Amino acid sequence: MYPFTLERPASVADAAKLAAAGGKPLAGGQTLLASMKLRLSAPEQLVDLGGITELATIKKEGDAFVIGAMARHLDVANHAEIQAAYPALADLASRIGDRQVRAMGTIGGSVANNDPAACYPSAVLASGATIVTDQREIAADDFFQGLFTTALAEGELITAIRFPIPKRAHYEKLRQKASHFPLVGVFLAQYDAGVRVAITGAGNGVFRHTGLEDALNQRFTPEAVAAVKIDASDLNSDLHASAAYRANLITVLTQRAVAKALG
Ligand SMILES: Cc1cc2nc3c(=O)[nH]c(=O)nc-3n(C[C@H](O)[C@H](O)[C@H](O)COP(=O)(O)OP(=O)(O)OC[C@H]3O[C@@H](n4cnc5c(N)ncnc54)[C@H](O)[C@@H]3O)c2cc1C
Repeated sequence: MYPFTLERPASVADAAKLAAAGGKPLAGGQTLLASMKLRLSAPEQLVDLGGITELATIKKEGDAFVIGAMARHLDVANHAEIQAAYPALADLASRIGDRQVRAMGTIGGSVANNDPAACYPSAVLASGATIVTDQREIAADDFFQGLFTTALAEGELITAIRFPIPKRAHYEKLRQKASHFPLVGVFLAQYDAGVRVAITGAGNGVFRHTGLEDALNQRFTPEAVAAVKIDASDLNSDLHASAAYRANLITVLTQRAVAKALG
């Protein structure tokens, strides 16, 4: 490590001032502290968001859940109202990493980090969720911009994420055995306006698959998924899986997700 200062603001307003002046937000530290230890990141000041109670609240507002940026994965996994009304979201949170990661990792940190294999971005995108910041509201379709890149401006803080509750939804992932990050993850959600399908782990960032969405809007069945050709040319190929394998996983996992969403 190297010298840095640590601030512990008690309000979003104070945290926003510190972040605007160059302070780096610290959520659960599950990515940031590891990056600092590896010297991939060297902030001079950390702004610990852990003392801001309003950032950790989870509430149901009409037909949506508003989840504070500092809600830990375990908070979402164990939230009775989310389990009842949006079980796919609670289930996703319950399968992130291991117990330590779920106890410390936060939804805001996961979404701000936008790891190309993270689970939450697929739920955010498939839900057509809204990312609420200290400055504005950003639609999920505009938020994720590829590898570790988002629409957040320098110093902008995520305060909450608003998830409209779908009619049906499911998340399927084939996890990488060591980290539990998905090799491929598929989140699908059905709303009155149509089906949204978001894929994580397969490309250089989370993305929607309009071919699958069109097919599922015609017929919400596993057979409809089988008829969609998945183009492997833009998918990742690495020591864990080839692009062709990932393309096949998208089909298989989407079929399973549809079958499970149907119950
Ligand atoms: C061993 C291991 C296994 C994991 N497995 C999975 C998995 O299976 N699936 C999965 O999805 N994830 C997985 N993760 C990631 C984990 O879920 C965390 O969400 C992720 O590491 C981010 O950590 P954090 O929330 O503690 O944020 P931090 O590490 O504190 O912050 C991450 C980044 O986001 C910024 N940031 C944090 N909060 C805000 C905010 N409110 N506004 C703006 N910027 C902010 C920080 O400045 C930093 O750049 C795993 C992590 C580990 C270490």
